[in-house]
Amino acid sequence: MRRNRKVKILATLGPASNTREMIEKLFIAGVDVFRINMSHTNHVLLKELHGHIRAVEEKVKRPIGILADLQGPKIRIGTFASKEVKIVAGDMFVFDTNPAPGDATRVYLPHPEIFAGAKVGDNLLLNDGRLRVQIVKAAPDRLDTTIIYGGTLSDRKGVNLPDTMLPIPALTEKDRADLEAAASLGVDWIALSFVQRADDVAEAQRLVKGRAGVMAKIEKPSALPVLDDILKIADGLMVARGDLGVELPLETVPSKQKHITRAARRYGKPVVVATQMLESMITEPVPTRAEVSDVATAVYEGADAVMLSAESASGAWPEKTVQTMDKIAQSAEGDTYYKGIIHAQRNDAESTTADAISAAARTIAETLNVPAIVCYTGGGSTGARVARERPSAPILALTPIVATARRMALTWGLHALVVPDAKSLDDMMSQAGELAYSEGFAKPGEKILITAGVPIGAPGTTNMLRVATLGPGGKGV
Ligand code: PGA
Ligand code: MN
Repeated sequence: MRRNRKVKILATLGPASNTREMIEKLFIAGVDVFRINMSHTNHVLLKELHGHIRAVEEKVKRPIGILADLQGPKIRIGTFASKEVKIVAGDMFVFDTNPAPGDATRVYLPHPEIFAGAKVGDNLLLNDGRLRVQIVKAAPDRLDTTIIYGGTLSDRKGVNLPDTMLPIPALTEKDRADLEAAASLGVDWIALSFVQRADDVAEAQRLVKGRAGVMAKIEKPSALPVLDDILKIADGLMVARGDLGVELPLETVPSKQKHITRAARRYGKPVVVATQMLESMITEPVPTRAEVSDVATAVYEGADAVMLSAESASGAWPEKTVQTMDKIAQSAEGDTYYKGIIHAQRNDAESTTADAISAAARTIAETLNVPAIVCYTGGGSTGARVARERPSAPILALTPIVATARRMALTWGLHALVVPDAKSLDDMMSQAGELAYSEGFAKPGEKILITAGVPIGAPGTTNMLRVATLGPGGKGV
């Protein structure tokens, strides 16, 4: 089973899709990586979903990625005596450290760190940014604010502080427990919410200990000036447009999406474009034209993956949404402009042997118009460098390590396969040919490209590029 596209699909599980049957349907419809949202998933369910996905993997005989998304320090207000209040623009409103239920003039803010970090002039956005207040007086136990945009405020609504560098780490106690549960189960990716600095990612890397890739969700303005530092430590990025669009003026989100995507492509690390991609399909069987265009834009930009949230987690049409995303991706990638656009954003190869081989593989593949590039990769870094070149030909990434194959499910253009290490160069050629044939990428008589490292099995040695011709039965010679 092969996909007819390079971009990958990441879909969130939830009440609409938590069964083994549905997970299989969604995989067949096009999902490459499943996202488990730890904001809504306890450890019992996490284990169950992990088991379902691995069972489907076994059945369909393809590596499937699992991403556990940690909730992060999501800030919420306390409660109101009347459950909800109306606050009006121009009036004053107070956030304090008193746990008593609030009213139309004040509410409890159960996060002492905010009082330490917030300053006069900072904005607080409430209820997904629908309400906005600005601090006029900041004391250690009380923030006096002017209401800029009023509205209805109810119990435990979320708070975003776009202007405030919060002295809180990206990992809460719950996140640490969730991280350990997910990593010890063997998920492939762990996503960190509300990353503000490279140290947040470094801390997660220390806890994950190489058991999974660490993805930094970019959804705080404070992460943007240090994106390069974050990228050096993270294994991937997510353009988390939901919270990013609350914390930044909405009209700046498209340009941030381009900047984040290109930065990740420069580093050769997978980048996911997320949130509201096919939002209307939560209830409707057909998306809006604007949503179709949004998915296509991410594909043209060369994002590694596009993501579904509520569409697949709690919507009425999970399978249809995935099929729709798959069709949009195939259509964009089939466009005659696609190659020009995606290559206009290609970055120069770095001065390493692996990059030199990867760049050469792309040009040779294009000159010869080969149907596949087969790349031997242990930990996946060679696969990532070949994908970074965004070649026209599909890439078969062969590894003896199942965890590598699963993690690569998120990377643009990689069709990962778990195979035992080749015994010799001849063995390598014939195995590469056979797999390109049996996986449906190449036919006898066609040429394929092979990149590998000799001696075989030594990590970090990609130093060889071969053109092989498929003989009868697919054996490469
Ligand atoms: P969330 O992250 O769905 O976990 O909030 C994605 C986003 O903010 O876009
Ligand atoms: Mn978010």
